[in-house]
Amino acid sequence: AIEIHGLHKSFGDLEVLRGIDFTIAPGEVVCVIGPSGSGKSTLLRCANLLEQPSAGRVVVGGTDITDPDVDIDRVRRRIGMVFQQFNLFPHLSVLENLTIAQRRVLRRGKAESVHAARENLARVGLADKESSYPSQLSGGQQQRVAIARALSMNPELMLFDEPTSALDPELVGDVLSVMRGLADEGMTMMVVTHEMGFAREVADRVVFMDGGVIVEEGTPDEVLGNPQHQRTRSFLARIL
Ligand code: ATP
Ligand code: MG
Repeated sequence: AIEIHGLHKSFGDLEVLRGIDFTIAPGEVVCVIGPSGSGKSTLLRCANLLEQPSAGRVVVGGTDITDPDVDIDRVRRRIGMVFQQFNLFPHLSVLENLTIAQRRVLRRGKAESVHAARENLARVGLADKESSYPSQLSGGQQQRVAIARALSMNPELMLFDEPTSALDPELVGDVLSVMRGLADEGMTMMVVTHEMGFAREVADRVVFMDGGVIVEEGTPDEVLGNPQHQRTRSFLARIL
């Protein structure tokens, strides 16, 4: 679970997050939508302290990770992050991409890290690709490797920032169905996405952000089907 309290983030004079409060309960899937520049990526990056919040608190699994005494590396291990760009190591095989952080960060032994890697490659439907290199895979396969790599760290929370935006349209479905599977298994997830079909079917809650604030949140039916705010309506009219 993650709790975000009074989160502000400024870059110089630009205030990008202007007081964000919300909680994701264990097993809950929250989709974050909103126009370009509204602060969605910044919110995700503050949630795992890739960006230092200007004010506010982030509590993950009961630990206030914005407390300066907290060991940030220990915290980050508990949060899996998947970006639009897959960020795989090109010179490492798929299996090595999945084992390297387990070995270096979690100090797992070789056998244990390979076991976890294979288990998670199977989970994303790529058990037969462990010896391939990233350049030999499609974008959709690379993104599924990136998801498997994050899962291999046993995160209690997964953050996704537009995981399908860089993919050719025909490859989007495979990645979304892996994410749907994770949701069904009870993974706690925060997903920034423009895939409204996914948000409608998989999200427990949809959050609409604009101008660094949460304008509206609710069930997919509420926010996508019967938006209460003009800003939400005009955003949806533009993308649907
Ligand atoms: P998109 O849908 O295009 O991905 P977004 O909602 O994810 O947009 P952010 O990437 O969070 O938006 O950016 C919000 C604002 O913060 C933008 O105006 C952006 O230019 C600014 N911004 C983001 N990161 C930085 C940074 N490191 N330094 C300065 N400004 C930044
Ligand atoms: Mg973004």
